[in-house]
Formats: sequence, C-alpha cells, structure tokens
Amino acid sequence: MNLKKSDLVTVISGNEKGKSGRVLLVFPGEERIIIEKVNLVKRHMRPSSEFPQGGIREKEASVHISKVMFLCPKCGQPCRLGKKNLEEGTKVRFCKKCKEVVN
Ligand SMILES: [Zn+2]
Repeated sequence: MNLKKSDLVTVISGNEKGKSGRVLLVFPGEERIIIEKVNLVKRHMRPSSEFPQGGIREKEASVHISKVMFLCPKCGQPCRLGKKNLEEGTKVRFCKKCKEVVN
C-alpha cells in the first residue's frame, strides 16, 4: 500500500463516492484507512465525565483502500502512485499521471 498519513485521497466507489479528505490513520495489515470527515458513523455515547450529557457523536469509520484514489497535489487529479528509487538510494512515490514526485 502506497498511501500514508496526511495524504489527500478521494473516494471512488460506495456511499461516500466523490468525497475527499486527508488520511488520518492507516491500517496496513487490513489495507484500510481512516479519512477525515469521510464515512462518518454515529456512535451513541453514554454520559461520561468528558461528555456529561452522553448523546450521539460522529466518528470516522475505516474505508478499504480499493475504494479510494490518491489525489495528486501537483496535477490535482486522482491517480495511482508509483515508486521509484532516486540515485542516492531513497525511495520516492510519484504520480503516474503527471510523473511528479509527491513525497
Ligand atoms: Zn499528478
């Protein structure tokens, strides 16, 4: 999986199609990510010291990475990411549309 925290992604299928946001969390083993303000689910909260009234809170649920695409900050298009090695041996990610390095 090439995505990482704070990448901008857009949802390409499912209920949340068309929404985009920043990646908040990555679960590499499950190939799922949590995206800011995407796939919100309502959670009923019991009253606690933090939320004395209890009530309903919205929280992001994870999204499978097959449902999202990276949004390239250089060309502004949803794209696939490639990986390449620079001469000095560091690995970088690049946009397969505009070929710009996006790390
Ligand atoms: Zn691009």
